[in-house]
Amino acid sequence: PTECHCHGPVGNAATNVTIPHVHQTRTPKPKILDSILDQIGDTPLVRLNRIPASEGLECEVLAKVEFFNPGGSVKDRIAKRMFEEAERKGIIKPGYTVIEPTSGNTGIGLALCAAVKGYRAIITMPEKMSQEKVDVLKALGAEIIRTPTEAAYDAPESHISVAKRLNEQIPNSVILDQYANPYNPIAHYDTTAEEILEACDGHIDMLVAGAGTGGTITGVAKKIKEKCPQCIVVGVDPHGSILAQPENLNGNVESYQVEGIGYDFIPEALDRSVIDTWYKSNDQDSFTLARRLIKEEGILSGGSSGSALAGALQAARQLKKGQRCVVILPDSVRNYMTKFLNDDWMRRHQFLDQRAQEEEHRQVE
Ligand code: PMP
Repeated sequence: PTECHCHGPVGNAATNVTIPHVHQTRTPKPKILDSILDQIGDTPLVRLNRIPASEGLECEVLAKVEFFNPGGSVKDRIAKRMFEEAERKGIIKPGYTVIEPTSGNTGIGLALCAAVKGYRAIITMPEKMSQEKVDVLKALGAEIIRTPTEAAYDAPESHISVAKRLNEQIPNSVILDQYANPYNPIAHYDTTAEEILEACDGHIDMLVAGAGTGGTITGVAKKIKEKCPQCIVVGVDPHGSILAQPENLNGNVESYQVEGIGYDFIPEALDRSVIDTWYKSNDQDSFTLARRLIKEEGILSGGSSGSALAGALQAARQLKKGQRCVVILPDSVRNYMTKFLNDDWMRRHQFLDQRAQEEEHRQVE
């Protein structure tokens, strides 16, 4: 690791907090890994073929497929980095309890680190999040506390408030706090963005990613804009969330089914100054496109991947032949086997679109 003198990755427009950080350089993987944590990162960048062609796009669309991380999502990267930085500073030691409020994937990443390193993990998670995530967390040995989905972030019963209370009650417990921890965006600035730049030989015209904590889009966009200042950065935020700008894009805070993106507050990890335009996604298009990613590209990613792709297909219309759009696909369908992968669930929520219904009819006949 080398000391990084750029102060780029952690600046928040609102707080202007900047810290220099130990820049982790990428090293070739050894043939035998010391633990499964060494498999985090270096995910593939895959060309999408049939979907962009059927939508009439001229540009190339490349997907960063993050379910190849061992915990199954992009969030393994930040879990490992936040864990290791906290260990390095002596904030946590084996035997300590790590508590985290999460929509699930950060929880899985942290529980994976906790399992390998010998910590206790407690995850607080809104009821909305899938049973599949709960089962994986349990299998990793984490303790899970479910909180009401409709609780506002600052309500006493929210996943964030419950985590804070547990932290006060449990000795030797720490919240690594993905919402404000600078190593959330830094993990992406140092790895995700570097991998994309390397795979693209530094030539990227558009980056599209959904925002939850905002760590992914903030970290990746900052590095890419340093190297490729003309690159257009598109943030994806679901209807019902308030992360998008200008404010008039957002309606009221409402519930939606896609997991992992959108919030009712602006996390510190999200620096909206690096985002050029926002796309508001909806459940129907997100799940339809997530299913098309499986059926037409063979990529078994999750619902927020469909949201990101919806934003990409819309925004990349402005790109020409020879230009390149990179879209980040955060997690796997493994998290949603009983949800959008299931036809009955899709039907029950009226997400099966006309085309899919007709096709289903044809197959029955
Ligand atoms: N999609 C999914 C499925 C996620 O779990 C997350 C993390 N909350 C995101 C997208 C958004 O990532 P970030 O928190 O880095 O904005």
